[in-house]
Amino acid sequence: MRLELVNTGTELLLGDTINTNAAWLGQRLAALGIDVARQTIVPDGRAVFEGIEEAARRSDVVLVTGGLGPTNDDVTRECAAELYDLPLDLHEGVMAWLTDYFGKRGKPVNEASRRQAMVPRGAAVLENRFGTAPGLHIPAVLGSARGLHAHIFLLPGPPRELKPMMEHAVEPVLRGMLADGGAREVLYLKSTGIGESDIVDKIQVGLEAIADLDLGYCIGRGDVDIRLSGPRDVVAAGAHFVRERMGDFIVSEDRRVIEEVVVALLRERRQWVATAESCTGGLLACRITDVSGASEVLGEGYVAYANAAKQKLLGVKTETLAAHGAVSEAVVCEMAEGCLRASGADHALALTGVAGPAGGTPEKPAGTVWIALASGGETTEARKLFFPGARDRFKLLASQAALELLRRRLRGIPIPS
Ligand code: AMP
Ligand code: MG
Repeated sequence: MRLELVNTGTELLLGDTINTNAAWLGQRLAALGIDVARQTIVPDGRAVFEGIEEAARRSDVVLVTGGLGPTNDDVTRECAAELYDLPLDLHEGVMAWLTDYFGKRGKPVNEASRRQAMVPRGAAVLENRFGTAPGLHIPAVLGSARGLHAHIFLLPGPPRELKPMMEHAVEPVLRGMLADGGAREVLYLKSTGIGESDIVDKIQVGLEAIADLDLGYCIGRGDVDIRLSGPRDVVAAGAHFVRERMGDFIVSEDRRVIEEVVVALLRERRQWVATAESCTGGLLACRITDVSGASEVLGEGYVAYANAAKQKLLGVKTETLAAHGAVSEAVVCEMAEGCLRASGADHALALTGVAGPAGGTPEKPAGTVWIALASGGETTEARKLFFPGARDRFKLLASQAALELLRRRLRGIPIPS
């Protein structure tokens, strides 16, 4: 099946609105095993007609977003009807729904809103649970008189209206159109602590040898998704190979990010963690608290930025700071162990580093970070890592590496030296 996406709206081209619909739809379609062959953004006006027409000439399915509203620049419905030469009829069901919708707000249906009840003859109405503009499905057969053979779906622009409509009304139809009912599968193996080129070294040749397997990589926030798609058994074979070659680096196979995985592991074990952060300024604790259920696994978090704070809150010794400096193995271990003592947690993570761009030295250039994990009854592990670049990226990657230390300990996976 060849599918194209047409996003309408001048605001998308002006950069006032980010085209999040394209990203979200791409992910949903990938999960169905459908590749988006092309995506076009067109401004409001005549370009909407041209965009739909061009896509319909090349495709079996065209998804159009935006331009179903009541304002003058919302012309998608009219353009699609014109393309397939379909008259627009007032749809009694939609009209009744609009009457009820506005009635509850003490208003009549005005002329502008009435346009939303106009439906190209033969099109199916897709319920909009969160707005007034219904979606529409114009079946491919209605285009044959014009030499066109594409199913056209018109979807509202606002994401909160589009998403439920896609899930409840469009995806079931698409699934029905797939020859195998969607037996193609897409699997995302999320890895961390390993660069893209090392991943390629480990798995690329082996995966290419598996017939019918589609492979892709997506670099995320401190992690890399390995995307496998194809028939179910082929994806299973690919996943088996990836697990064999680099299983220790795989964080999740269900798109969960590492903080979600770590929170789940701690909950399973009824353990909790405390954090002692210098250079990440609380980001590590913040990421853990992004996960629902964090209150069961995060007891306390310290931001000990100044040396005096490291001493006062975590018991780091004056001599250690003087002998090794704040960014050192000795200090990060004292931070983690002091945090474990002060909190009584099962695990304590500590970070200290030079975020940069200022403050680096030849021995400790900007981007250097020490990370330590102390756990009751186990030896404290500390690692030095190097993430030069922008501060926000440094903080993100440092917090990621700290979460990875804990994930490995919880899973009993060796921590690389
Ligand atoms: P429309 O249905 O074209 O009137 O769009 C209504 C609103 O939905 C716009 O003002 C945007 O805020 C939002 N919107 C439209 N298209 C998109 C898109 N492709 N991605 C994200 N938001 C969008
Ligand atoms: Mg619009």
